[in-house]
Amino acid sequence: MGIASMNPANGEVIKTFIPLTDREVTNKLALAQKAFEQYKNIPISQRAKWMNEAAQILERNSRQFGKLITLEMGKTFVSAAGEVKKCALNCRYYADHATEFLRDVSVSTDAGRSFIRFQPLGAVLAVMPWNFPFWQVFRFAAPALMAGNVALLKHASNVPQCALTIEEIFREAGFPEGVFQTMLITAEKVKDVLEDERVKAATLTGSESAGASLASIAGKNIKKTVLELGGSDPFIVLESADLESAVSTAVTARMSNNGQSCIAAKRLIVVGSIGEKFEQRLVEKFKALKVGDPMEPETDLGPLATSDILQTLDHQVQTCIQKGAKVLTGGQPLSDCPGNFYLPTILTDIPPGTPADNEEFFGPVALLYRVKDIDEAIRLANRTPFGLGASVWTKNNSEIEKLVNELESGAVFVNGMVKSDPRLPFGGIKHSGYGRELGIQGIHEFMNIKTVWVK
Ligand code: NAP
Repeated sequence: MGIASMNPANGEVIKTFIPLTDREVTNKLALAQKAFEQYKNIPISQRAKWMNEAAQILERNSRQFGKLITLEMGKTFVSAAGEVKKCALNCRYYADHATEFLRDVSVSTDAGRSFIRFQPLGAVLAVMPWNFPFWQVFRFAAPALMAGNVALLKHASNVPQCALTIEEIFREAGFPEGVFQTMLITAEKVKDVLEDERVKAATLTGSESAGASLASIAGKNIKKTVLELGGSDPFIVLESADLESAVSTAVTARMSNNGQSCIAAKRLIVVGSIGEKFEQRLVEKFKALKVGDPMEPETDLGPLATSDILQTLDHQVQTCIQKGAKVLTGGQPLSDCPGNFYLPTILTDIPPGTPADNEEFFGPVALLYRVKDIDEAIRLANRTPFGLGASVWTKNNSEIEKLVNELESGAVFVNGMVKSDPRLPFGGIKHSGYGRELGIQGIHEFMNIKTVWVK
């Protein structure tokens, strides 16, 4: 199906959309360029007023926007409304801090005066995924717009109404026409847009293949990119950990967003003698999860966003089982039901040579490993092409130091789950991508960091 909203809880097509024509795309690029010429000179204080207004609109309408998110991609309504509120926080964070982040930085050299000035680049293309259809966009757009860039959004084809709503939010907040535009285009059209000389840079959040494709086109055209790609985050529990807290958090960290989060705890690695107890409590908690209608407040786990995702996930699980992995609970789609529901699943005793080694499991499936010591845990954690986040559980300071130093990831969270926070940079290494969003680092990604030397 092309660009369309389809309810993943029952398969109903809600609305279909016709992609923009080439002429319409060209018009949008021209408008972006025109808007940038004016917008780059607008004072940060004025941009901040509009950004704060966007935050207000998000908060005022969090239930309505949350409902739209749930309808298009199936996350629970409670988490969808929470996502919208988090976007408001992010808008306020950059509205409050942009002046400080973009101030000239003096550096003493042999010059009479030398300093760094931060200037916007122009139109930035954002290719975004469906899994956090508001958050992913706002975490790019709030710093980009505060920096004086203008944004062109190519959102995932299954969340067009979210995409159009976000454009409307920025318009209603007061941003001038053309500063934020949604383009309903298919993935094949991204190349043409990116190659257009009016587009100065691009960011993509999504799969490795999409990231590699975008980065190679950008590379040929010498354009800056940021890539936020997949992950297979380890969640390492050592013997001194608070077991109850670790198990409960593991469930949340694996299941949030119906298991479809880049930073989900996909591989649970438990060290030494606590393995048995951890496994037993984990199975109990997975079995207790309520799968069902994402609009219902008591539902823990809604459907996967599309039937393709469900099929891919099930294929990965069945391949692991055929090669010898043991199913502790779940292991199949929910039967007799029209939506894309998959049972909460735990696989263990997973032999080498399965998709668990190098693929991302994007759904409610935990891969449980029991290892003998911290060194084995670190080796296993790093034995993946990905390097996004890692969560580690221990009360021992020397273990914390070792894990922080030796884990190959863009973030390590100790005694807590990996999460994004506007105040901290977010991003990965290895095949999880490069560049950073959020924090001061996030606003500097799409800027000319200009060196000024005055005799
Ligand atoms: P996807 O298929 O790569 O789609 C993401 C976006 O890229 C969509 O807008 C898609 O458009 C577009 N796209 C797909 N192929 C493309 C290509 N060859 N060239 C240009 N654009 C292309 O990703 P997904 O599977 O929907 O999303 C889930 C992935 O995103 C997971 O791997 C997840 O871990 C990752 N993710 C990473 C982060 C992070 O911060 N690191 C955060 C969230 C999600 P269409 O929809 O039109 O195909």
